[in-house]
Amino acid sequence: MNRRYRKTIIAGNWKMNKTISETKAYAEAVKPMLGKPKWCEAVILVPPVNLQAAVRAFKDVKISVGTENCHYEVSGAYTGECSADMVKEAGAKYVVLGHSERRAYYNETDVDVNKKMHAALRSGLRPILCVGESLEERELGVTMEKISYQLKSALSGITAEQIRRVVVAYEPIWAIGTGKTATPAQAAEVCGAIRTLVRKTYGARVARSMSILYGGSMNANNAAELLANEDIDGGLIGGASLDPETFVAIVNASNQD
Ligand code: PEP
Repeated sequence: MNRRYRKTIIAGNWKMNKTISETKAYAEAVKPMLGKPKWCEAVILVPPVNLQAAVRAFKDVKISVGTENCHYEVSGAYTGECSADMVKEAGAKYVVLGHSERRAYYNETDVDVNKKMHAALRSGLRPILCVGESLEERELGVTMEKISYQLKSALSGITAEQIRRVVVAYEPIWAIGTGKTATPAQAAEVCGAIRTLVRKTYGARVARSMSILYGGSMNANNAAELLANEDIDGGLIGGASLDPETFVAIVNASNQD
């Protein structure tokens, strides 16, 4: 983290978990524990159907709300989808784009992710763009090539004004939901390389102020060590964010004076 230049963000990605009543119960559980995080923004990312209830439930808790996907078209015959305007109007501040589960299970391509980035930014959302290599790619030594390709494709055509609203999350696929966390050195190396790539296109000031998160089996025990790195500005947390106490512990780990 480098609090002088950029915001620390701890974002819980709930995936397809929790109903509206469970969302309300979670907010009630978090309320007495969380206080007012001084250094970091806590975010919960929920399925679109829960957005409005989540915004209401987290209003007094100092947690921002976002969602986990949006479509790239403004409207039309896309059964089952939600546009960026829809999730924005339902209360989302952030939207996760390019998550490896969407790339793997719904065949989302880099072109799709780029179109979604444009749609989200047009609607006033803050995208959390996920990039990450598979285990095979890491073992072949092409991690940086993969990250660079995904990042460049996703950011194609994004202006210098828009990039200020983009958050990037480095999520090695082999670490997601597996309990195998990247070592702090591995995570810091890739997050640093992402900042360098952003600097090349958008300049030093933009790169210095961009929040770059790590995601992949982050939990209350490993958060502080990961977040101690200058280039890791927070976490995108799946499984561990489902438990209110663990989520608050991770927020607190990022919030030490
Ligand atoms: C994620 O899905 O973005 C994620 C990081 O999941 P987990 O923390 O469960 O590995």
